[in-house]
Amino acid sequence: MSEPRISIEPDTRVLVLTGAGASADSGIPTFRDANGLWENHAVEEVASPGGFRRDPRLVWRFYSQRRAGVLGAKPNAGHLALAELEKSLGERFLLVTQNVDGLHRRAGSERILEIHGNLLETKCWSCDRPPFEDHALYEDTLPMCGECDGRGDTGLLRPNIVWFGEMLDPAHLEAIERFMSLPGPLFFVAIGTSGAVWPAAGLVDLARRVGGRTWLVNAEPAENASRFESFIRGRSAEVLPGLFEVR
Ligand code: NAD
Repeated sequence: MSEPRISIEPDTRVLVLTGAGASADSGIPTFRDANGLWENHAVEEVASPGGFRRDPRLVWRFYSQRRAGVLGAKPNAGHLALAELEKSLGERFLLVTQNVDGLHRRAGSERILEIHGNLLETKCWSCDRPPFEDHALYEDTLPMCGECDGRGDTGLLRPNIVWFGEMLDPAHLEAIERFMSLPGPLFFVAIGTSGAVWPAAGLVDLARRVGGRTWLVNAEPAENASRFESFIRGRSAEVLPGLFEVR
């Protein structure tokens, strides 16, 4: 059987959406691998504003472990293939990732929207100072902002992650819609995502609405698999190198 290929003509734009499965081959567990649990806590309990209010120390311990995992990981062949594709397509390419591990950037991707934030960045819970790069692990002491007095709140620092119950940055959604509505054919390729987390799971519908062709590359059929025209079953690090043919 011949390997699947996606042929990209000179006028075609490519919008790629990645999820946790794209980093699984780098050794970073997906949400499902961990059964949605961390040390017997539901992930929603530690990845939410309510969880942080209740127990910021627990939340920072969770994210410090994630940071340590990411710092020890390397981009895989799938990340590298997407960075290569971006080099060939330039502004006809946009990568939207739900991953917070920063591996796409480390692979060389620049036209990227990290819609769920970045694990290696920290921001203030109380003031609106811009997020900053931070590789520190906070296992015992809680980090404080130092630039604000907490404005009546705690002045604690928090990870720059979009938590359960928080809104995505509207600028990201606008950038996606702008890219989708440009003239010319659109290809939408979702990779390693279960199709269970919104609004990312609905991007396939938006792409189809503007006449886009759609592919899903996943290790198993995702929840929203039936919405895609084509499903390529496999591991992203194996499927992505050689998948795209730029004409
Ligand atoms: P998910 O864990 O719900 O689903 C991952 C999907 O990837 C599954 O359908 C699985 O079959 C598939 N998969 C597993 N290994 C694969 C591989 N090697 N190649 C291709 N597909 C593979 O992940 P999700 O849909 O991204 O949603 C979970 C949420 O948790 C997201 O918001 C994400 O930000 C977050 N998360 C991020 C990371 C990360 O940054 N690496 C890791 C875990 C969870």
